[in-house]
Amino acid sequence: MDFHCHTRYSDGSLSPEQVVTTASTNGVKTLAITDHDTIDGVLSLWPKRKQLAVELIAGVEISTQWQGKDIHIVGLNFDPYSKPLQQFLIDQQQLREQRAQVLMEKLHHRLGIEQVELKIKRLAQGSSICRSHFASLIVNEGKASCFSKAFSKFLAKGKICSVKSQWPSVELAVAQIKQAGGVAVLAHSTRYKLSNSRTYQLLKDFSEVGGAGVEVSYPAIKAQDQRRLIRIAHEFKLMGSLGSDFHHLSQTWANLGQVAPLPADIKPIWELF
Ligand code: AMP
Ligand code: MN
Ligand code: MN
Ligand code: MN
Repeated sequence: MDFHCHTRYSDGSLSPEQVVTTASTNGVKTLAITDHDTIDGVLSLWPKRKQLAVELIAGVEISTQWQGKDIHIVGLNFDPYSKPLQQFLIDQQQLREQRAQVLMEKLHHRLGIEQVELKIKRLAQGSSICRSHFASLIVNEGKASCFSKAFSKFLAKGKICSVKSQWPSVELAVAQIKQAGGVAVLAHSTRYKLSNSRTYQLLKDFSEVGGAGVEVSYPAIKAQDQRRLIRIAHEFKLMGSLGSDFHHLSQTWANLGQVAPLPADIKPIWELF
């Protein structure tokens, strides 16, 4: 099972078909494709989902903001033809476009990169424009030695190519997922650099606005953090989800489908599917 991964439709490098084939080869039976703020990859497979080598669950990873942090909400098992959800994702894409314009200016003026727009469009190839595309460009231009350095030196909060986030609230994202018949899952809670008490508050707020689950098995999560998340999840009746957050075959720490099973003491989110 893998309920969090990316394709070429956002910042992954494989096509949805290739993701399905790779997942199946890796022993995955049920797969959710969760691109950033787009379901175009899911829609491309949807008409032929019965013929696929895996059971496909509609998925998306929605960007939101909570207390000044970018928080990712994974939507699962919704109707991908929902018009309100599709409109909401068009709005998210517009926010991505606007943010990309600001970032292009910064890469040009602050890092001296020429023809940024052309180069970014070439990297993104019509998909959902992510900061990862900007990180790749920064590396290609020799301004950073690797992808993660591009983030830590330039794109991270407070650095010279950071951008203020305009994402909608967690509440709005959860409402959109639910009205389309899906369930909302809080993605990779330990990646937001929150204190224990703020993590607690995030899970509390998330459950109060209708969130159903929280990812507790994903790459690099520490056993101690997983235990803490499960304790909080119990308190707020949140179920457990899991996912590799796979993007590329070269991303060896997050191989498709290679994620620890859900611990026995948390209810699996897929009981709701
Ligand atoms: P965005 O949603 O456009 O802000 O881009 C977020 C994406 O950038 C994440 O999903 C990751 O794929 C990638 N990313 C963010 N921060 C880092 C980081 N520090 N190192 C590597 N990749 C990152
Ligand atoms: Mn990503
Ligand atoms: Mn994420
Ligand atoms: Mn992701």
